[in-house]
Order: sequence, then C-alpha cells, then structure tokens
Amino acid sequence: IARRTSVFSESVIREMTRLAMLHGAMNLAQGYPDFPAPAFIKQAAVDAINADINQYAITWGSPRLRRAIAEKTRRFYGLDIDPDREVTVTCGATEAMMCAMLAVVEDGDEVIVFEPFYENYVPDAAMSGARLVFVTLRGENFSFDPGELRRAFSPRTRAIIVNTPNNPSGKVFSRAELEQIAALCQEFDTLCITDEIYEHILYDGREHIPIATLPGMYQRTITISGLSKTFSVTGWRLGYLIAPPHLTDALRKVHDFLTVGAPAPLQEAAAVAIEQADAYYPELREMYAAKRAILLDALRAAGFACHQPEGAYYIMADFSALGFDGDDTAFAHHLIRDIGVAPVPGSSFYRPGSDAGSRMVRFTFSKSDETLREAARRLASR
Ligand code: GLN
Repeated sequence: IARRTSVFSESVIREMTRLAMLHGAMNLAQGYPDFPAPAFIKQAAVDAINADINQYAITWGSPRLRRAIAEKTRRFYGLDIDPDREVTVTCGATEAMMCAMLAVVEDGDEVIVFEPFYENYVPDAAMSGARLVFVTLRGENFSFDPGELRRAFSPRTRAIIVNTPNNPSGKVFSRAELEQIAALCQEFDTLCITDEIYEHILYDGREHIPIATLPGMYQRTITISGLSKTFSVTGWRLGYLIAPPHLTDALRKVHDFLTVGAPAPLQEAAAVAIEQADAYYPELREMYAAKRAILLDALRAAGFACHQPEGAYYIMADFSALGFDGDDTAFAHHLIRDIGVAPVPGSSFYRPGSDAGSRMVRFTFSKSDETLREAARRLASR
C-alpha cells in the first residue's frame, strides 16, 4: 500500500451518512438534497438519452455545455471566456479540484488553505504532494487576520485555495477580503484555486464575487464550480474548471487520463438547464433561505450557538451550552444514536491535531422541510 494513502483518512462526512442509515437518523451530515431535482433538468436528461447522446463526449466537455457555461459566466460575472480554450467539464467539482492540484503542484510545494475547510482538500494535497499551510478563520464572521495570511505566503507558495461561499462555515468572502488575497497572490506570484460550487446559494442580499474577476487575477486563477448543488443533482457528477489557456492545457491532460470525461447525456441536460436557469436561481435562494430559518430556529431552541450562514447550506453549531461531556466526535455519535439526527464532527474541517472544531458540529439544511421538521422535533426532545 502506498504511503500517500496513509496520510489521510476516510471521509468523515460519508462515514456519518453510513452511521445515520444504520441508526435510522435524519441525515443532516452529508450535504445533498433528499428532495427531487427540478423537473426541467430531469426531462432534459431523459430526452438526451432517448436522442442517443450515449457515447463519450469530447474529453474536455460537450461543446454546447462549455458554451452555456461561458455565456453564463459572461452574463453573471462579466468575464469573457473562450469555451474552446478555457472551460473543462469534469466529474464533479471533486475531480476538478484534484485535477487542479495535480496539474499545478510540484512535490513539496506549499498550498495555503483557510480553515475550517472542506475535508477533500487534505487528501487532494496528499495525493498531489502539496504541503498545506493553514490560515484560521475566526470569530462570528469567520474572518482572517491579514497578518496571519501574509505570513502564510512565502517563495515556496504555489497556490491558495479559496472556497466561497464556504463549506462548512457559510462565510461569503467580501470584495475587500478577496482584494487582500489577490494582492498577495500577485506579490508572491502564486496561483489561486477557487471552489465556487455554492455560487448561487446566498442569503440576506449577499453577492458572490469570483476572485477571477479582480484586476490581474484571471491569468492566475483556476475557478471550479458545478451543477451538483445548484441543480440538486449531486449524483450526476458534473463539475467544471475555468482557467486561462496555459493552465487549461495542463488541466485537460490530467482530466483526460483520470476520467476521459463526464457522462455525455447528463452534460447535454446540464447545457439545457444552464441555458434556461436565470429565473430559477432566485427561487433556489428563497427555498434555501426558508430551510436555513427552520434549522437555525431548531438548533437555537435546542441550545446550540450557531454561526448564521451567509451562503452555502451548512450551519456550524457550538454545543458547549448543551452540557455534553465529550468531544465533537463523541457528541456526533450521541446525536446519531440517541437522538436520531446526524451531523458531522467539527474537527473534520480543521487541521489534524487542532482542537478548534472540538466543540462544534456541522449540520446541513439541504433537506426537505419534513426532514428538517422531524430533526427539529428530535432535537427538542434531547
Ligand atoms: N459537499 C458535501 C458535504 O460537504 C458532500 C460531500 C461528499 O460526500 N462528497 O457534505
């Protein structure tokens, strides 16, 4: 067994899903919808299969989907990108991130990541040979200390990973914060890999700003997004990369030999969906704002101290006031086994050995109102 597999563990998020199933707990652990995907995208997939779009698409993505992505990116963010040279369709944002790391990181290069972070970045770093350098987000707004961020940069820094809207914290990076990051990327001549999979899930009038739109950043940015969260089709495994041609050439080589390509009929359906979705995005936001309210109320009533998310669909909740004697992992197991609600232990989102997550668990509200209400009832009975 190769050493690289011993430096990271199995996904705790998916382990919690298995435990939830075992104990019949409401799964507020893994961030995927338990409600139907929109009818228009499902119909488009059925149509594409019936039209016999059933063989490989071009390895870097069907032309129609790449065009739809480029046009959407122009409409929403004012970025003029070439679908033929700057867009690559992948098997989920997960593959996109792995491709990005494999394409740009040399063994031993440093990659900066904000914590709490999405758990995939640790195995991605291990598999690509990156050495992660952590910058901790702190306080009510999960802000970073500009001095700490500057000290994280060095001549060994290859890239910084930005994830906004953020999983698990719900933070949406402000323009001022992104400008500080951008200035350091330019001063230290590093790349930025930005995971924007929750770009359309925002609350309270917050705006999503792709760091690639900041002056001087497009040429050094790899932007990642996908269909999973926006269109509630996490099982379709459709993500994409946007990057300037010199980076895209390398990304496409890695992608080709990792997976050949994403499912062709689903790419067709994704193109149809993106072409028609401009009126759908506000509905999506409203739906999630209502779900956020249900879960926030339930958690606060049960005694949790919650960070109110500005985007994405997770809540980091501190359980200190609940009088539980044990760490986040013990608490998560207790909730699953004894209460019937599954969260993810907070420590899974912090560097190994850190105790910053030891009083927190993460809940997702990407679930039907019935699931959320049943979870609320169970939490109230604790
Ligand atoms: N992104 C989702 C989460 O954070 C799903 C993770 C996964 O299992 N791929 O829960």
